[in-house]
Amino acid sequence: MSKIIVYGYRGKMGQALLDCCPGYQGIEVVGRVDLGDSLEKVLDQADVVVDFSSPAGTMDALEQCVGAGKAMVIGTTGHSEAEQARIVEGACVIPIVKASNFSTGVNVLFWLARETAELLGPGFDLEIVEAHHRLKKDAPSGTAKTLAEILTEVRDKQFAATDEVMGALPVRAVNGRSGNTGVRSSTEIGIHSIRGGDIVGEHTVIFAGNGERVELTHKASSRATFANGALRAAQWVVGKPAGLYSMTDVLGLPD
Ligand code: NAD
Repeated sequence: MSKIIVYGYRGKMGQALLDCCPGYQGIEVVGRVDLGDSLEKVLDQADVVVDFSSPAGTMDALEQCVGAGKAMVIGTTGHSEAEQARIVEGACVIPIVKASNFSTGVNVLFWLARETAELLGPGFDLEIVEAHHRLKKDAPSGTAKTLAEILTEVRDKQFAATDEVMGALPVRAVNGRSGNTGVRSSTEIGIHSIRGGDIVGEHTVIFAGNGERVELTHKASSRATFANGALRAAQWVVGKPAGLYSMTDVLGLPD
């Protein structure tokens, strides 16, 4: 039985977690914390803190979990580089599962995106389109950034393996396009963010070649998909050695 604290419980994801917990065997909610509440008061009773709050919220919870030797599941997105570095340091002391997206489908999309980019090769231009509800605060989404990192890694290897150095430009993510941008370079990975209504989360990777195009799309229609993935991670992480883990580890997917 994993004893969890739902951190950011008043939010959309916090509520989705609390809705899913009763039907999830092996999870007991021992605390709920949001802005203005004390995590310290309830932390002793828990094995793991499940964080869907804000980047500042993650940092507060991280310091306390590191101090108390408690595991963390981090679902919050939009951390700065400095915050991300602090999470990596914290993972030297406690086990942390951090995922930009806890759905099984998106984690399969990550794998498919890598394979497809490898198979199609550098002749296909890579673009990512993501869509979320009007209340989302960060852009591009954490999931789109993870997709861009995966595709960048593939492209870097492909360019390194050919004699052709693409104008000596590093592969880089380009967020949206506007104005006189010039022609598209093969080293670009475009990312485009749509915000509106109550869209739960959609991600498409476009592989655009000459005369053909492949598109891989994932659409989440319910936050329960993220919540159940995070609960699975909360069960999995308890008792693991210190380290920074991903959903690939939790699901046992190939790298
Ligand atoms: P939300 O704004 O509806 O909820 C966030 C909650 O956290 C609010 O109740 C807020 O009061 C609380 N909070 C903020 N700062 C806090 C702090 N310092 N201490 C305690 N509580 C604090 O947002 P949401 O849609 O539930 O999303 C939360 C985060 O999770 C976002 O970063 C979002 O991008 C991310 N998210 C991740 C996944 C995933 O699968 N990894 C899925 C959905 C959303």
